[in-house]
Amino acid sequence: MAKKINSQALEESNLNTLSISQLRKDFNDRVIAPGDAGYDQARTLFYGGMDHHPAVIIRVKGVDDVVRVLKLARETGLPLAVRSGGHSVAGHSISEGGIVLDLAGMRDLQIDIEGQTAWAEAGLTAGEYTTAAAVHGLATGFGDTGSVGIGGLTLGGRVGYIVRKYGLTIDDLLAAEIVTADGQVLHVDEDMNPDLFWAIRGGGGNFGVVTRFQFRLHKVDSVFGGMLFLPATPDTIASFMTLAESAPEELSAIANVMPAPPMPFLPAEYHGKLIIMAMLIYAGDASEGERVIAPFRALATPIADMVKPMEYPEIYPPEQGDYHPMAASRTMFLDHIDRSVAETILKYLKSSTGMMAVAQLRALGGAMARVPVEATAFAHRNSRIMINVAALYGQPEEKATHEAWVTDFAAALQQGDDRGYVNFMGEDGAARIRAAYPGRTWDRLREIKAHYDPNNLFRLNQNIPPTNGK
Ligand SMILES: Cc1cc2nc3c(=O)[nH]c(=O)nc-3n(C[C@H](O)[C@H](O)[C@H](O)COP(=O)(O)OP(=O)(O)OC[C@H]3O[C@@H](n4cnc5c(N)ncnc54)[C@H](O)[C@@H]3O)c2cc1C
Repeated sequence: MAKKINSQALEESNLNTLSISQLRKDFNDRVIAPGDAGYDQARTLFYGGMDHHPAVIIRVKGVDDVVRVLKLARETGLPLAVRSGGHSVAGHSISEGGIVLDLAGMRDLQIDIEGQTAWAEAGLTAGEYTTAAAVHGLATGFGDTGSVGIGGLTLGGRVGYIVRKYGLTIDDLLAAEIVTADGQVLHVDEDMNPDLFWAIRGGGGNFGVVTRFQFRLHKVDSVFGGMLFLPATPDTIASFMTLAESAPEELSAIANVMPAPPMPFLPAEYHGKLIIMAMLIYAGDASEGERVIAPFRALATPIADMVKPMEYPEIYPPEQGDYHPMAASRTMFLDHIDRSVAETILKYLKSSTGMMAVAQLRALGGAMARVPVEATAFAHRNSRIMINVAALYGQPEEKATHEAWVTDFAAALQQGDDRGYVNFMGEDGAARIRAAYPGRTWDRLREIKAHYDPNNLFRLNQNIPPTNGK
């Protein structure tokens, strides 16, 4: 049930620590508080079921604003959330009763066409950046959805459509500007503050507020790819993954095993039946792409085939703005998907009582796996497959049922070590966060956290506790 909030009561309850009217003056009305017209919209995240009521949302305009918001958070002791694109799976980018530092107003993008680099403010979405860079035939790889913010996406690592050709987004991160917990504005790169530069490449929002990222751009003009719909059987799923792993690294493939949506281009007899909805992107010569993708098309008679030469930004089709599903999900890394694993996947998807259940399979390897494991805080580079299983549902009361389904499904898929990825984590708990950062990576992250954020000001995230234990 939605929690009712009385704006006056909230302002009074924090009267000693937070004066909304003063903040409105300080931040030139870039302040949204309970009772304001835009409040409900501003506290809405991509996922539904996260009914958090912050005391104030501050739409920062630049680095000075960020410094001032961090000072406010230190002085009031109120919980601080940092928001870029609002796609946090755990709902971490809106605080309950606290401060939200909202970067949506910081969307500047400066592209150096000759040098093939770009400085991007952290409020940009993957889609906005991709569209602007494509004007120059250039791209930096992000994820599978255009509305995801480059802020959260980059800091967790990012696995997306051109990952096998160009690696993770953090592999194209050249530098960043970051405001640390004590309000210092630091430039980080391989030479300046290299420990912090290492930590923000996979360590999430634990170390400060990144205001700008500098990325490398690649020449990616048109690509060969698009959606391919195939029947989902143990054989098609296992063979799809074998092909995806052995394909040249120009090809990145994502296979969504899920019930066929009632789309007009899918024959009605498939609607609701489990299919493979695959997205294939070959970042290279179109005729070569056609040759590489032919065996995928031959796995079974395609239910629909939309694979063709396309402009790179077409990877991000328009989205439904008011779509806010609730989801129970788990992401893991696997070493193989053979017929028996595929049977398990189909069995669990059939047993879900959610509105929709999906297993998203991504073949990894290529450029991502060539970067040494210790080079960044994203340590699962040698994993071969990433799988994200999820049930979408409509009512908050259903949460326990779908969480239990996800837990059982994940246990049935487990192959050896528990390995996690923070960007897709919900409220998975400390053990799963630990599973994202094996061995020395964890110790090093905790030491760097203790140095830059000893009081854990940035704790609304997949939290890495500082070594001093706060
Ligand atoms: C529909 C959907 C598709 C996705 N697809 C992919 C995918 O293909 N590949 C992939 O790797 N991931 C994917 N993700 C996961 C996504 O990368 C994470 O949810 C990511 O955190 C979202 O970033 P955001 O900026 O939109 O989120 P926000 O909710 O704004 O931020 C999430 C967290 O990141 C931190 N943060 C954000 N910006 C900053 C900043 N500037 N400085 C400091 N900390 C910051 C904060 O801790 C914040 O709580 C997807 C998620 C969704 C919902």
